[in-house]
Amino acid sequence: MAKQLLGKEVTKSLNEKIKEQVQKVKEQGVTPTLALIRVGERPDDISYEKGAVKRCETLGVAYKKYLLPADCTQEDLLDTIEEINESPQIHGALMFQPLPDHLNELEAANHLLPEKDIEGITEGSMYGVFAGIEHGFPPCTPQACIEILDYYGIDCTGKKAVVVGRSMVVGKPVAMMLLKKNATVTFCHTKTEDMPSVIQEADIVIVAVGHPGAVDGSCLSKGQVVIDVGINMNEDGKLCGDVNYEEAEQIVDMITPVPGGVGSVTTSVLVGHVVDAAARAIKKKKSRY
Ligand code: NAP
Repeated sequence: MAKQLLGKEVTKSLNEKIKEQVQKVKEQGVTPTLALIRVGERPDDISYEKGAVKRCETLGVAYKKYLLPADCTQEDLLDTIEEINESPQIHGALMFQPLPDHLNELEAANHLLPEKDIEGITEGSMYGVFAGIEHGFPPCTPQACIEILDYYGIDCTGKKAVVVGRSMVVGKPVAMMLLKKNATVTFCHTKTEDMPSVIQEADIVIVAVGHPGAVDGSCLSKGQVVIDVGINMNEDGKLCGDVNYEEAEQIVDMITPVPGGVGSVTTSVLVGHVVDAAARAIKKKKSRY
């Protein structure tokens, strides 16, 4: 039976590190602060906001809400982002998406300074991920995958990694992050021929597809580490991943459950970015003198 890679274990360890870092930043007279930009009253956004606020409170990070009506103009939104960019008290911003249809999401995201882009949604942050340099922040879900691998001591150097899915949200950035950790990385997608034989060759498999059971036992082999990023509803209305867990746990060495895997780590990664952003801002200010 496969060992479960539990998000809550990773989160616990991550939270301890974040609390220590918050302490160090506060000792220098700065309170790490998150801006929450919400347009309208979508229940999904409100629920995500509650989770982020709760995690901020637990970890000693302050927050400020910027609430705009659902019918606000693009200019209103850009002005709000401008205000956040210019405020030395705000270190990072979380903008709930999708925005209402009449707003230009890409333009809004790119209006945010990369150093405050703790979600990794700007082109500047994506450049940082692809170049393997510290510029902006990586998106939280791919980083959560890496945090899980690190916490459980899974060394990527020289390992064969297969990433199933090639979106800009998960697949591509996580592949770049694995490459930075010296894995040999291959992608699978809807046009991949004989996907099972490609995945079977991997040591590490990261699946971000959006279909329950897209990766089943026929794709997997002994000794593998499987990170399931998928969040889906199955026919019984239950939350499930992209990997057929019942088949996978009989074959592979380690696997993340859904729920209880990647998803539970992402909020701490996000709050950790706010603290990193505050620490970077202090360093930048010091280097000016
Ligand atoms: P996406 O933008 O829809 O991309 C899905 C990718 O999977 C595409 O590259 C697609 O290939 C590929 N794909 C689809 N069906 C496939 C199949 N049967 N075999 C092989 N490849 C297939 O999805 P996403 O935004 O990356 O999200 C993927 C999953 O992760 C979803 O379940 C989402 O809910 C979940 N997610 C979880 C978190 C979290 O915090 N845990 C965060 C974000 C997303 P083509 O490019 O060829 O179309």
